[in-house]
Amino acid sequence: MFQKDSSLTIGLRNQLIQLLKEKKIKDESVLSAINSIPRHIFLDSAFTNMAYEDKALQIGSGQTISQPYTVAFQTELLQINPREKVLEIGTGSGYQACVLAAMGAKVFTLERQKPLYDKTSKIIEHLGFATKIKMFFKDGFEGLPTYAPFDKIIITCAAPTIPDTLVKQLKIGGIMVIPLETKNAQQVMIRLTKLDEVNNQIEKFGDFAFVPMLEGLEKK
Ligand code: SAH
Repeated sequence: MFQKDSSLTIGLRNQLIQLLKEKKIKDESVLSAINSIPRHIFLDSAFTNMAYEDKALQIGSGQTISQPYTVAFQTELLQINPREKVLEIGTGSGYQACVLAAMGAKVFTLERQKPLYDKTSKIIEHLGFATKIKMFFKDGFEGLPTYAPFDKIIITCAAPTIPDTLVKQLKIGGIMVIPLETKNAQQVMIRLTKLDEVNNQIEKFGDFAFVPMLEGLEKK
C-alpha cells in the first residue's frame, strides 16, 4: 500500500535540497530534516515523479500538501530546538508534522477533516512517527488548551486574523508563524513572538498561497 524510498527518490530529494539552498533556505537542521522525509510517501503514487518538484500538490478532500519551499520557510522561521512542544494547525498530509518531528520537536497537530485525519494517521504510523506526533480531529481555532502552553505554533492554512485563542496558548518568548489573509488573493507570512502577556513582536515576510482556515469540523 505504501510506496518505498529508492535511489531515484533519494536522488530527487537531494536535488530538492540544492534548490531550497538556492532559494536561500540556510538552516541546516531544516534542510537535513527535509532530506530525511520521503515526501512521495504522503502522495498518491501517480505523483511520485512530481513529489520532489517545488510545488504544492493535491492530497484529496480539496486540500494540498504545501510546496517544499513554503514548508522550509515556515519551519526556518519557527527556530525549532529539540524537545520543544509545537502545535500545528492543519495536519493535511502530515508532511510538515514529520519535518518538525525529524527536528526533535514534540508535535501536536490538528485537522478539521475526518477523511484526511484518518488517512494521515496511517502514514504517520507507517513512517514510525506515531510516538512523536499526536494527532487530533479538532478545530484549530480552539487550539489545544489541555496541552498548552506551546513553545511554537505553526498555522498551515490561511488565517483571517491572528487567532487570539492560539496566542494565549503560546509560552512567553514563544513563536507563532501564520499565513495571514490580505486584501489580494495571497497571504503575507507573519512571525509573532510573544514578549509578555500583552505585547507581541510582529514581523512580516513575503507572499504565499494557502488553502483557507475554516471553522468547525467536517466528518465526511
Ligand atoms: N501542513 C499540511 C498542509 C495542509 S493544507 C501538510 O504538510 O500537508 C491545510 C490543512 O488545514 C487542510 O488539510 C485543511 O483541512 C486544514 N484546516 C483548515 N482549517 C482548519 C482548522 N480550523 N482546524 C484544523 N485544520 C484546518
